[in-house]
Amino acid sequence: MEGALTARDRVGMQDLVLLDAHTSETAVLDNLRKRFHENLIYTYIGTLLVSVNPYKELDLFSKKHMDTYMGVNFFELPPHIYALADNVFRTMLSEFNNHFILISGESGAGKTEASKKVLQFYAVSCPSTQLLDNVRDRLLLSNPVLEAFGNAKTLKNDNSSRFGKYMDIQFDHQGGAVGGHILSYLLEKSRVVHQNHGERNFHIFYQLVAGGEDNLLRWLGLERNCQKYSYLVQGECAKVTSINDKSDWKTVRNALSVIDFSEKDVEHLFAIMASVLHLGNVKFDTDTLGYAVLNNNPQIHWLSKLLGIPAQVLQQGLTHKKIEAKMEEVYSPFAVEHAVYARDALAKAIYGRTFNWLVNKVNESLANKDSSRKTVIGLLDIYGFEVFHVNSFEQFCINYCNEKLQQLFIQLTLKSEQEEYQIEGIEWEPVPYFNNKIICDLVEEKYRGIISILDEECLRPGDATDLTFLAKLEEKMGGHPHFVTHKLADQKTRKSLQRGNFRLLHYAGEVTYCVVGFLDKNNDLLYRNVKEVMRQSNNAIIQNCFPSTEPESKKRPETVVTQFKGSLGGLTDVLLCKEPWYIRCIKPNDSKQPGRLDDVLVRHQVKYLGLMEHLRVRRAGFAYRRKYEIFLERYKPLCPDTWPKWKGTPSEGVLCLIKHLGYKPDEYKMGRTKIFIRHPKTLFATEDAFEVC
Ligand code: ADP
Ligand code: MG
Repeated sequence: MEGALTARDRVGMQDLVLLDAHTSETAVLDNLRKRFHENLIYTYIGTLLVSVNPYKELDLFSKKHMDTYMGVNFFELPPHIYALADNVFRTMLSEFNNHFILISGESGAGKTEASKKVLQFYAVSCPSTQLLDNVRDRLLLSNPVLEAFGNAKTLKNDNSSRFGKYMDIQFDHQGGAVGGHILSYLLEKSRVVHQNHGERNFHIFYQLVAGGEDNLLRWLGLERNCQKYSYLVQGECAKVTSINDKSDWKTVRNALSVIDFSEKDVEHLFAIMASVLHLGNVKFDTDTLGYAVLNNNPQIHWLSKLLGIPAQVLQQGLTHKKIEAKMEEVYSPFAVEHAVYARDALAKAIYGRTFNWLVNKVNESLANKDSSRKTVIGLLDIYGFEVFHVNSFEQFCINYCNEKLQQLFIQLTLKSEQEEYQIEGIEWEPVPYFNNKIICDLVEEKYRGIISILDEECLRPGDATDLTFLAKLEEKMGGHPHFVTHKLADQKTRKSLQRGNFRLLHYAGEVTYCVVGFLDKNNDLLYRNVKEVMRQSNNAIIQNCFPSTEPESKKRPETVVTQFKGSLGGLTDVLLCKEPWYIRCIKPNDSKQPGRLDDVLVRHQVKYLGLMEHLRVRRAGFAYRRKYEIFLERYKPLCPDTWPKWKGTPSEGVLCLIKHLGYKPDEYKMGRTKIFIRHPKTLFATEDAFEVC
């Protein structure tokens, strides 16, 4: 049969559950390595998919492969991401409920590629009509657009997602993809004005400079040379061999048209991108009193033209702060250092708000206006755990997010599964696991957590600094098993910790954070008069991003981390009411090389991706469970004693049914309200029995 298992497919175990009874980390690692070297990058733990990044193109993703996996029982073919996608899809159709696929792994492990493969599978496998094809194209093309504006080259990944993304794909009751919705999380705006060595700004800037048509660049006042733009060259690697900015530009331009961006939208959008580049080149001089001034600055003229704001107003806005005193407005001049700060803050604000506008615009184009009931499959591709040489506020937020997702995994899988066995009275040896709630609390607990303390310092008028924040942390967190600083550390640890840092013992490992910039980044302040300046713009996107109705109350807006905490809370709620599926992505080596699997690196990931715990729960547990009523309703036609009308209780009916079907005692357990089936194969056999009868 097409796609049937061959000898090569059987290298190692295709499901880790099938390894020896007392599986060790080493055995799991050996199995993954063996398969990886045969280009078998996918392995199951029950229905969880483990995927190892091959760092090379494999012939696994053709239309033929998609067809092979469509509608086939999960365990009959070699493990594949299409098998998982298909299984989720069919479960959704038959049970008419909502699902999500959580894709996790560290930066560069292959999450974004995996999410694209799932989406492509649905694009090909779902029913097709002209209307649906239109939705499908938009769903697919939203990817290159959001990647252009939200991804960048980092040290870990040439196409690293610098925002979190959750995408709902909506299906009608026949399985047609009828719409979608995207939620984005915490774009790393600081990248707009600063990049570490070896990293780049967001792709779109390089695409524009390399690929933009001559007359477009002329109109935008841009030169075809990245080196000219101070925001593009701080990482000293504007050119990346794996990236073709010029052809990517064409893809993005085409995608923008398909997803309903009018020519005017596009014009405004690139006027903004060019403005950001011009802003970065604005240089301040000092006047005789030491204040910042702008002397005949060509950038200001381009900014004025592109944003439609009088040059005079821009100039004033970039060099002065408005102070309201006794009913009077006074403009106080900036020192150069302040002016540079205000300029960068503006660039970040413009970019960040334009990104949000872009996501909204994509959502408008994906929106399904039909009110009939739909089911959804959510795809969560969110930044993985991140540890750099120097870790800052951004890593703190990203790693906090990963702690929250681990909590969700624990709640949905390890904890709830075990609780269910208990409730159902199924004999069960509890599987120990590390509950990271203690770390989540350390970060987010009201009044006492790191976030509260950070906000307190941010909102405190007067002399609050990054170091007073650190001192407060030391005062409140002293003795916490997952928090340490130079001052709190024992002698041995102290050597590895500089003053000005704090270290968190995350569930996935230790990370040392440098407090410099925490207050600033969390405040994310934009001077009020700069906002007023932007409001004068005749660029429709800028008008939308800086609405005149923005609350101008004296109350401070929510800090960045508090907003993020809120949106993660929202995400958790969205996910908790859906059925979970998991793809765990593993990065085989740190040098983006094919064919190399670094044992130490992979072992660490096996550990913190929770594979061992998952494996133990799966092995000890039951793959399938259904309420007696539902099970009986579906399968009673297979047994003459229960069909057509069963008179006894549903559980007696089920017992009668499975005796008739010949289930062996170790294949199932009877709970209080549900039947538990150990292996899906048992169920497949039962399904197949329908065809015989
Ligand atoms: P993440 O989103 O986890 O940070 P990506 O999905 O962007 O990682 O993958 C990083 C890079 O690894 C990709 O740009 C690609 O070069 C390579 N890669 C990932 N998955 C695959 C795959 N299935 N086949 C081939 N290459 C892959
Ligand atoms: Mg990614």
